[in-house]
Amino acid sequence: MNLQERDGQYLWHPYTQHKTAALPIAIKRGEGALLWDEEGKQYIDAIASWWVNPYGHSNKYIADAIYAQLTSLEHVLFGGFTHEPAIVLAERLMELLPDNQKKLFFSDNGSTAVEIAMKVALQYYYNKGEKRTKIIAFENAFHGDTFAAMAASGISFFTEAFKGSLIEVVRIPVPLKGKEEESFEILKELAATNEYAAFIFEPLVQGAAGMVMYEPAALDKLITICKANAIFTIADEVMTGFGKTGKNFACDYLTTQPDMMCLSKALTGGTIPMAITTFTQELFDGFYDDDVNKALFHGHTFTANPTGCAAALASMDLLLQPEMQENIKRINTQHLAFKAKMEIHPRVKTARVQGVIFALEINRDSEEYYGNFRNKLYNFFIENGVIMRPVGNIIYILPPYIIQDELLEKIYEIIEQAIEKVL
Ligand SMILES: *Cc1c(COP(=O)(O)O)cnc(C)c1O
Repeated sequence: MNLQERDGQYLWHPYTQHKTAALPIAIKRGEGALLWDEEGKQYIDAIASWWVNPYGHSNKYIADAIYAQLTSLEHVLFGGFTHEPAIVLAERLMELLPDNQKKLFFSDNGSTAVEIAMKVALQYYYNKGEKRTKIIAFENAFHGDTFAAMAASGISFFTEAFKGSLIEVVRIPVPLKGKEEESFEILKELAATNEYAAFIFEPLVQGAAGMVMYEPAALDKLITICKANAIFTIADEVMTGFGKTGKNFACDYLTTQPDMMCLSKALTGGTIPMAITTFTQELFDGFYDDDVNKALFHGHTFTANPTGCAAALASMDLLLQPEMQENIKRINTQHLAFKAKMEIHPRVKTARVQGVIFALEINRDSEEYYGNFRNKLYNFFIENGVIMRPVGNIIYILPPYIIQDELLEKIYEIIEQAIEKVL
């Protein structure tokens, strides 16, 4: 039996209806923007393996850093102990993050980074004896699959089965062009009730919703409304962080900074699961007390794993290289040219670009997230050796930054063919 056949005996895959899904493709090797399956078929990884891999597969620089760390200190508990990789990573990250971010908490994935931010907002008010127990989030948001993160997420089929068990989250519309005022007004009404501890959002680009984009000025205004009403703001940069939007962080486009930031995905260049939540001094001070019960009683066994920290430090080196910054600009320029070409296509409803992220919507009445048309598109891309995961009628590209021009052109070509051929 090959790997594909052996897989089904014991494995349960994410977001998969095993009764109807095709067998998973067994990948044997990756290099740069390319992957090869067990039959030797080559694929272009057009979505950086769920947005985690900007610097290419099997990156030697990160691998060497991980190996060096593994052979000096692979892990030590972080309760009562500390280590140099965590300290240096914190120091270097703080230089990169907005000035108001002063404290940093480690966890293992995007969902836990969000979970921690939400718990901190809620406990901050609990510690003060104020009753603010609800959260505000955007429509169609995605913040992860653990319970609090799921509560904040607004894509219904992800969360439908758990509705009764979730903390209370109220949704406001995304401030899309022309709809900003509606978003501001609804937020102002909610804010006036003094019931909300935090507003969580994906800054500038809502990834899982299908790369939905909105303007920094609108987000600035929403954050300002929250600040005026003692509602903490949480920028979930799990997808957008580390260069995806064209700047290191989407928040770098803002003039008003959020109180908390959630980072994961590209943090370790797609090597070791790790996440970070960062905070203002004010939030940290809300837990700093002689009373032990006011502490944040949250932790994970692998908190601040030194190997993960080493991978994150190496990844940050790569991100900040001038060549890497050039790559980001180059991809953006090519995306913009492709957008100009595609948005006049009769089968294209809209096309949009932010940094290295490109998305287009195919003209169709209505499409389900994992519907039939989406599956046909997905299969067409796979047959043609390109890994993309359309969302309903939305096709998006989020390539590794090191992708060669020819491979990017190939992705564009296959998208054009899909628009002609997949009906
Ligand atoms: C992927 C994602 C998450 C969840 O991260 P996991 O590591 O999958 O738990 C949270 N927020 C955003 C914006 C994401 O894109």
